Amino acid sequence: MSIASPPFSSPLATRDLAVVWHPCTQMHDHESVPMLAIAQAQGAWLTDSAGRRYLDAVSSWWTCLFGHRHPRIVAALKDQLDRIDHVMLAGMTHEPAVALAEQLVKATPAGLDRVFYADNGSSAVEVALKMSFHYWRNQGQPLRQRFIALGGSYHGETIGALSVTDVELYRSTYSPLLFEPLLAPSPDAYLREPGETPEAFALRRLGDLRELLDRHAHGVAAVIVEPLVQCAGGMRMYHPAYLRGLRQLCDEFGVHLIADEIAVGFGRTGTLFACEQAAISPDFLCLSKGLTGGTLPLSAVLTTSEVYSAFYAEYARGNAFLHSHSYTGNPIACRAAWETLAIFNDEPVLERNRALSAHLANRLAPLIDHPHVADVRESGMIAAIEMVRDKATRAAYPSDERRGLRVYLHGLQRGVILRPLGNVIYFMPPYCITPDEIDLMVEVAIEGIDRACA
Ligand code: PMP
Repeated sequence: MSIASPPFSSPLATRDLAVVWHPCTQMHDHESVPMLAIAQAQGAWLTDSAGRRYLDAVSSWWTCLFGHRHPRIVAALKDQLDRIDHVMLAGMTHEPAVALAEQLVKATPAGLDRVFYADNGSSAVEVALKMSFHYWRNQGQPLRQRFIALGGSYHGETIGALSVTDVELYRSTYSPLLFEPLLAPSPDAYLREPGETPEAFALRRLGDLRELLDRHAHGVAAVIVEPLVQCAGGMRMYHPAYLRGLRQLCDEFGVHLIADEIAVGFGRTGTLFACEQAAISPDFLCLSKGLTGGTLPLSAVLTTSEVYSAFYAEYARGNAFLHSHSYTGNPIACRAAWETLAIFNDEPVLERNRALSAHLANRLAPLIDHPHVADVRESGMIAAIEMVRDKATRAAYPSDERRGLRVYLHGLQRGVILRPLGNVIYFMPPYCITPDEIDLMVEVAIEGIDRACA
């Protein structure tokens, strides 16, 4: 297919294309796809250098929870800059790191009492994998070396995190460098049989997981999952019964459960953490993205006192967790995160979101009758549309047709940033979005789908 040539360009974009290499991008695309030069960000809106405005329907890769430049977070950052910029977190501490850890322990599911900081989502996953492996070693079980991941999962793109990721697009090139996880089939409700409920399907998939554990548990350190929504794999949603059963299976077989709530944490699925919907506590909880309200890179891994105590010993025992990053627990980032949690404490964020997500679901409902839509799904402030070539067979459009890119380009023309994952058009708007802005976002997505499928 041919892709429309850039409708707008700017001097900054020209300078950019001479020196910057962008993430998750075939740079050649920018011969025809515009590079937006963003000059201002405020609330749900971005403004480019020519004054064109764009609704950020994906919260800038799912980070900016309350919209850009929330006044409370901006004020906290300015104040923090006048106090401490950065100090290493080894041998030193500071108020933002401690206060944030206290707040995280309070806010997260019971039993998660210890906070280890890192500085991005992938690093948090690396930390959780290493900690679980190392825990078993410290416990005299060094043969527990493997990890179970779900089909279609995404946990990041550093070598360890990519190893437990099952998205072909990101993984296949690097597979010679990666370790092999054991893959359990995804409970993604889209894959259920006609007439089967999402819950029944989740229970069926738990049966597959049990078989895997039956055969391999003795060599397994942990199962890692994205609770309720497998995001980068295509916003694949599943029933909380899977998480409940998963927790039981991990207990029964004595393996850790790592919950990667990097994308779904902080209210995205309707509860503060997705695990709450299954009333479970994982052994490790990975957080990032929304943690700082979308201002600065920071991540945290929470774990139990039991795990912590397996590392706590005389130095000579060699049990310490010696993982570090230069910017671990950066005071400015921690301060932004502390303020983010304070906003959740002070304002009825989840309640307001319930009304917004109901409005979004309402607006999307008619799309299920669209001749090229096979599924419309929502979970709190996440919604996704499965665009297909053939509705009856659910046959997908071949990825090289890049239909999602057509939707993206249409969004740009109409001032809405949609960034489809292949043939899945999704919304993950900031929580400050208004019902009118939701209407605009949905209208533009529908127009985009109509054009992409024409
Ligand atoms: N885990 C999940 C569930 C994610 O969605 C992401 C990012 N999309 C990551 C891990 C990796 O985070 P980062 O991009 O900050 O490395």
